[in-house]
Amino acid sequence: MIVITEPNITDERIKEITIHIEKAGVQAHVSRGTDRTVIGIIGSAAPTLAEHLRQMKGVENVIKISKSYKLASRDFHPDDTIIDIKGVKIGGDNLVIMGGPCAVESPEQIDEIARLVKAAGGQVLRGGAFKPRTGPYSFQGVGVEGLAMMTEAGKKHGLLTITEVMTPEYVDICSEYADILQVGTRNMQNFDLLRKLGTVQTPVLLKRGFSSTYDEFLNAAEYILAGGNPNVMLCERGIRTFEAYTRNTLDLAAIPVLQSLSHLPVISDPSHGTGRRELVEPMSKASLAAGANGMIIEMHTDPDNSMTGDGVQSLFPDQFAKLLRELEQLAPLLGKQFNTEKQPPSAFVEWKK
Ligand code: PEP
Ligand code: MN
Repeated sequence: MIVITEPNITDERIKEITIHIEKAGVQAHVSRGTDRTVIGIIGSAAPTLAEHLRQMKGVENVIKISKSYKLASRDFHPDDTIIDIKGVKIGGDNLVIMGGPCAVESPEQIDEIARLVKAAGGQVLRGGAFKPRTGPYSFQGVGVEGLAMMTEAGKKHGLLTITEVMTPEYVDICSEYADILQVGTRNMQNFDLLRKLGTVQTPVLLKRGFSSTYDEFLNAAEYILAGGNPNVMLCERGIRTFEAYTRNTLDLAAIPVLQSLSHLPVISDPSHGTGRRELVEPMSKASLAAGANGMIIEMHTDPDNSMTGDGVQSLFPDQFAKLLRELEQLAPLLGKQFNTEKQPPSAFVEWKK
């Protein structure tokens, strides 16, 4: 159920309404929009609550939301959510680019890649310190030391950082190091992890489970929002289909569908979404055309020798820089702003492997 208030309602009046809701034994989540304030009611309330609320001063309407997710829905929050991380805005008409290796491998590797991400005009450095590998004998990531390496590289080159967190116990430590926490596709329905992420304020990039429907995806986001963390972005990273040529099928329609159902920013991952380097550029452009609020792209200085198998989908630094320049040109035509600080192409002639 949501309560839609009259325009220009005072803070005191909103407080009175939320107290009334909480006295009924349910939670009230307030969302202030440009025009009106919407108060979401979470929990099962007595049918009389809606009637009482309708009669309160300042209340324009009370509507039942029939969807299973509430706080993630556009009904509750009609405006786009814009997450501001140290001045980098994610959501609305801003285009954000996250780039970097699949895994943090060494201080030198992440430092050099951070330099190249920044030079190309990216805003966020990606890199996994904990890797969710399909097989138990594959490289599992360098762990907490990798977090420190990435944070140092991010700070040195003026980039935000994003890293994957796999278990609830590691949420606090990963939050100390990274600006954004990534939930991987295999953990989209790890409900203990999602609940724990609801207890912090660190922004979360939630990847779609590779066999999940939009409804399941938005319900996973709802767990984090309901816990009290409003800083959630959704990531389309490809789903399993019968097609084996590509690693996954990047579901481009997910971008406008999720944006119509939800106010949360939608980020595209053309790297895992295709598993093939040559498809990253066209799928990035297609994602921008479909309305994505940004991309998370794998880039490596020596992809053939990367420690995970994801070298085959990683761009070389010069390809990454070229792609960002093209996205910068396309962005205004497609209603997006791409605020990038970049260096000339000569910065990419050579890089350290
Ligand atoms: C990754 O980003 O490197 C990753 C493992 O992603 P996903 O969870 O989408 O497979
Ligand atoms: Mn990867």
